[in-house]
Amino acid sequence: MDLFEYQGKQYFARYGIPTSPGGVAQSVDEAVEIGERVGYPVVVKAQVQVGGRGKAGGIKIANNKEELLAHAGAILGMDIKGHLVKRVWLEKASDIKEEYYASFTLDRSQRKHLCMLSAKGGVEIEQVAEEDPDAIVKLEVDPVEGVDLDSLRRLVDAAGLADEAREGTVAILSELYRCFREGDADLVEINPLILTPDGRVHALDAKVTLDDDAAFRHPEWDEFRGISDVDGREKLATEKGLNYIGLDGSVGIIANGAGLAMSTCDVVNQVGGSPANFLDIGGGANADVMANALEVINTDPKVRAILVNIFGGIVRCDEVANGIVAALSRVEIKSPIVVRLDGTNSEIAREILAEHSSELLLSEETMLGAAKRAVALASEAESK
Ligand code: GDP
Ligand code: MG
Repeated sequence: MDLFEYQGKQYFARYGIPTSPGGVAQSVDEAVEIGERVGYPVVVKAQVQVGGRGKAGGIKIANNKEELLAHAGAILGMDIKGHLVKRVWLEKASDIKEEYYASFTLDRSQRKHLCMLSAKGGVEIEQVAEEDPDAIVKLEVDPVEGVDLDSLRRLVDAAGLADEAREGTVAILSELYRCFREGDADLVEINPLILTPDGRVHALDAKVTLDDDAAFRHPEWDEFRGISDVDGREKLATEKGLNYIGLDGSVGIIANGAGLAMSTCDVVNQVGGSPANFLDIGGGANADVMANALEVINTDPKVRAILVNIFGGIVRCDEVANGIVAALSRVEIKSPIVVRLDGTNSEIAREILAEHSSELLLSEETMLGAAKRAVALASEAESK
């Protein structure tokens, strides 16, 4: 789960990482109340889970109430790279002497934790990596041993931060690592980590990705989940216990098994279409699961055709066919469904489907044939 900046800063605060005082607002009135309390100048920051908010006009400094009214009014409701701004974070504006970058993440290939530090912060780290890779210093951390202050000091020295920023940065890195480990994050990133003219170091931005597999030991994460920015389709799928990933195309996909679901996406692409989603319904392709899957796909306005691709190994195809027919009597679908069933009892299954065939329910024998048909139906509907 990705956190918004303000949630990330709340998370940082639990581990003693210094941030600026502030508050989150959903309306201009709330924003003014917080601004007056925090004191001017105050920074108004769009809360969206996408980088480069500054350049997009989503970060503004207000020097008085009039400016705050204007900035909060302009930023709330703004669209930043397809993300609607529903909240702004307001914080006491900082004076900046230098901007650094600091993060901990997983290095899966090395099976280690990885700390990255750079004196070149404030810009996207990918850009620094491309233009000046030597400006990023790295430290591999053994997850069992953890990190000691001496290694962090050496890292800070190697990064070439200002002398006065060194001790503060070492302390923050140490706390950031605790936040990463005890806080069960896959990523904690501070960009920029700033040095102020009076020699303090603190986090001006926060990017935190929590490890969903650790949610069972963090009941307090529920409060973050309530206001997360996940795709509405994915939210519904999670509620229904489905393994769903939203994509941008027009062919809705339902398959059993992650491998088959991925191949189905590939085949749809191969024949010139584009998948609207990845959806693996797993082993139990019964009427309930099928109805849930169709309901989720129904909420996607881009879908023009649905491709159901089931291989009956353990599950019997006739049960799946009955499940599809039963699901169709419960869910009103908006696009035609092309079904390919193969494997155990597939002939009986095709007979069942044939009995119920209509403009909205079609059957094909092969995966390629079914993909072609679904893609053709989708493009036909799109050209209307
Ligand atoms: P991002 O662009 O979405 O990553 O948003 P950030 O929170 O990283 O802010 C982008 C930039 O805005 C920073 O690199 C700063 O240069 C500037 N900025 C943000 N907060 C302040 C502040 O309190 N004071 C000043 N002077 N600049 C700020
Ligand atoms: Mg940033």
